[in-house]
Amino acid sequence: MIDRDRLASLRADEEERFARGHPASADLAAAADRSLLAGVPMPWMTRWPGRFPVFVESAGGARLTDVDGHEYVDLCLGDTGAMTGHALPQVTEALATRAGAGITTMLPSPDAIWVAEELARRFGLPAWQLAMSATDANRFVLRFARHLTGRPRVAVMDWCYHGTVDETLAVLDGDRVVPRPGALGPQVDVAVTTAVVPFNDAEALDRRLAEGDVACLLMEPALTNIGIVLPEPGYLDAVREITRRHGVLLVVDETHTLCAGPGGCTVAWGLEPDLLVVGKPIGGGVPVAAYGMTAEVAGRLSGPMKGHEIDVAGVGGTLTGSALALAAVRATLSTCLREEDFAVAIPLAEQFTAGVTEVIERHGLPWHVQRLGCRAEYWFCPPPRDGAAAAAAVDEELEGFLHLWCLNRGVLLTPFHNMALLSPHHSAADVDRHTEVFGEAVAALVAP
Ligand code: PMP
Repeated sequence: MIDRDRLASLRADEEERFARGHPASADLAAAADRSLLAGVPMPWMTRWPGRFPVFVESAGGARLTDVDGHEYVDLCLGDTGAMTGHALPQVTEALATRAGAGITTMLPSPDAIWVAEELARRFGLPAWQLAMSATDANRFVLRFARHLTGRPRVAVMDWCYHGTVDETLAVLDGDRVVPRPGALGPQVDVAVTTAVVPFNDAEALDRRLAEGDVACLLMEPALTNIGIVLPEPGYLDAVREITRRHGVLLVVDETHTLCAGPGGCTVAWGLEPDLLVVGKPIGGGVPVAAYGMTAEVAGRLSGPMKGHEIDVAGVGGTLTGSALALAAVRATLSTCLREEDFAVAIPLAEQFTAGVTEVIERHGLPWHVQRLGCRAEYWFCPPPRDGAAAAAAVDEELEGFLHLWCLNRGVLLTPFHNMALLSPHHSAADVDRHTEVFGEAVAALVAP
């Protein structure tokens, strides 16, 4: 369907346009190459389209300005880290105040209570702990789960992503559990640590958990890291029933699915996790995450949490739960990601979805766009049932071209996703701008 020669030629034109339009970023990229591994402070940054990354001058609300003076409509929002919008004045003020009163002391600050009560109110789980990132929170939760159950393995969904957590970088190859393609230097063979099951397959989950060696199932309620794969009706109820029946703790990772509403999918869909992880945007951009649990789990953990050797238990960290992080969460959750914020952002995501659908249908392409709350993502196949089907439709050339076309015309999409995150700072005109440039890109691609 897609003419690959045409795609390559259009991509080359866009690369030229990008290089011509970004001389200041090009100079900084050349300088960065001399002292930073791969020329970036964090490896994923090489995944942006274009020969070198755009260097950022500033970001505010849903806008980002680069060092060449281009302004972008930011639909990436730090891949969810800035889902609230960038540079919120109330967060800036709270951070400045807190920084002037001490950032990290290894002691609790009074904000800790407000934060835990707010998380409990939002997610319906009574006991909370902080972490530096969702990766960290997931690692801690897996440890707790193995400790509580005495079972060695964790279960995850095929083609999930839960951060740089060793056990979760695993996929199915037939019946075998193998390292996810791209996982560098796995520390332990994932076949030993991990059970992997396909999303939307309750029978496969039941069969695997019946083996009795799984401590917990860690899952997103909808996959959001291989496009968006929604649960089929009844699937999540079946997951809860099966995990309970096999004594397996259910951990719901709401780091991305917080896009569904103030309490994530857990509240929107009435889920009953034993533990819940949330990270990325809860600190308005400051690195912080949290995990909550039922009273039952908290009761079972209260002994070990106060043990003499808790500092070497493999959970927590020196900078974790700092006064700065807690001030950031308080400033963010008291003013953002509330019902009234989603009431603005979700209709914008609906508008995005309608625009992309219209373009796909106009050209008769076998693609789809999926939406979950204020997150929407298009993918180059009909809606898949599981992660493997979605992974089979990954098309790096096509994705790179579309992203670069949009970037060259002032719209930023998330690298390694075709994802748009809408916030109360976006406008209907921003969404129309995306629809327009996406429509032009597709028209250029499929032109006879
Ligand atoms: N959980 C989910 C569902 C995620 O999508 C991610 C990151 N994309 C993480 C956890 C890890 O977040 P972080 O990289 O901030 O640790």
